[in-house]
Amino acid sequence: MIAIKNVSKWYGDFQVLTNCSAEIQKGEVVVVCGPSGSGKSTLIKCVNALEPFQKGEIIFNGTSVGLPTTDLPQLRSKIGMVFQNFELFPHLSISENLMLAQQRVLGRSADEARKKGLQLLDRVGLSAHAAKFPGQLSGGQQQRVAIARALAMDPIAMLFDEPTSALDPEMVNEVLDVMTELAREGMTMMCVTHEMGFAKRVANRVIFMDGGKIEEDCSKEDFFGTPRGERAQHFLSKIL
Ligand code: ATP
Ligand code: MG
Repeated sequence: MIAIKNVSKWYGDFQVLTNCSAEIQKGEVVVVCGPSGSGKSTLIKCVNALEPFQKGEIIFNGTSVGLPTTDLPQLRSKIGMVFQNFELFPHLSISENLMLAQQRVLGRSADEARKKGLQLLDRVGLSAHAAKFPGQLSGGQQQRVAIARALAMDPIAMLFDEPTSALDPEMVNEVLDVMTELAREGMTMMCVTHEMGFAKRVANRVIFMDGGKIEEDCSKEDFFGTPRGERAQHFLSKIL
């Protein structure tokens, strides 16, 4: 479903991605990890064209992502993205947050968008909070709303960029539980996360990045089970 082929990217003279290649099949859950600054966020932002790249190609569901002719709103509506800092609209209620893109991008009626939003809010365990504003919810609750908002677009894949790293420890699991359920239902997922417990339980594959390169791309059994390259070993020894 996602094919990343020899992607390289520069910020000015600085090469941030070097010849990155990976494939993610339908229904696969891939965890992307690696040290700070290794290019994880940049790589997943390239997948939904939030960042341009200068070399290589990314094909999402048969569509080349980087071309000037690509219909970006259409592409992005198929790829849900959840960031570290939730990025809910603070001046809109939870219900309105869930409705906005459904109406603007997919052309759904207010009734339809509200109904879909409430269904998804229920699914993430927050149906009692529809009328509240983001500032009235905890971080973990806000992140679950952000996931529900992405799902309201009926995406066929989800990208997560450290969705739990801004949360207090007691809220991490409520978000990981929602992600785990999504994975069990067969969602194709690319997750930048340092939650190695989640990777061990849920991932099919682990990609380890270092210095803008994909240094490891293997099954979770191999990643955690057999000795990896020195950089990955060092990384794991610090976070496990
Ligand atoms: P972290 O774990 O800290 O989130 P990361 O692996 O997600 O790190 P990226 O955010 O992808 O790393 O950044 C990769 C490199 O690119 C870093 O060295 C960063 O400083 C650099 N970089 C990121 N965004 C820009 C930008 N807009 N302009 C210039 N350099 C950038
Ligand atoms: Mg990052």
